Amino acid sequence: MVFTSIAENIQRLRREIDDAARESGRGGWDILLVGASKMNDAAACQAAIAAGIDALGENRVQEMTAKLAQNAYAGAPLHFIGHLQRNKARQVVGTVSLIHSVDSTPLLLEIERLAALRGIRQDVLLEVNVGGEVSKSGFSPSELYGAAELTASLQHVRCLGLMSVPPPARRQHQNRPYFEKVYSLFVDINKKIYDNKWEYISMGMSDDFADAIACGSNMVRIGTAVFGKRNYMK
Ligand SMILES: *Cc1c(COP(=O)(O)O)cnc(C)c1O
Repeated sequence: MVFTSIAENIQRLRREIDDAARESGRGGWDILLVGASKMNDAAACQAAIAAGIDALGENRVQEMTAKLAQNAYAGAPLHFIGHLQRNKARQVVGTVSLIHSVDSTPLLLEIERLAALRGIRQDVLLEVNVGGEVSKSGFSPSELYGAAELTASLQHVRCLGLMSVPPPARRQHQNRPYFEKVYSLFVDINKKIYDNKWEYISMGMSDDFADAIACGSNMVRIGTAVFGKRNYMK
């Protein structure tokens, strides 16, 4: 049964997360497990929530809106983790508890504008393009300081940390230098600009979460290892 395997996957992941956290002097309770639920239906989302996942993260606004109408996320916080187009921010601001993927100044200012209109404060993370990949969105490490300062000056956006997706790894542990770089940016900006009030470093996916945690991540976004392989043929 697919749903018993979702519960078993989450149990196994919790053990592996705990092991990785101990490597950096922490425990599994310090790490938030966000299920990356793209291409998995409402029933699968509910199975993950029943098995105690900490949050679910979606990539596409249209898919998220359809699954919201089916109560897919009832019982757990909903995050947005994919690239967000400015003209779709309206459907996300105030709907999700955390946007991981703020990757440009225009998007940041649009979130501020929408949150102000609604009289709310939207929690966000800034996305770092740590590998300098042209194909990937996110602030470069050097742009990040300016973005963090701008964010700190906004009234209706609260920045809680950083998110990053390093380049695809071809060998085990290949991404450790990138994770270490994001961690050092986190520590430096948190101290210089945020009075050490940042809370989250969102990095690590199915294939590399143990390395990410060993390098200081406290929020992993895991799809395949929770839900099984995504079926792109459907
Ligand atoms: C799909 C996705 C993940 C999870 O990927 P897996 O390799 O399936 O664990 C994490 N983060 C983002 C932004 C994603 O789009």
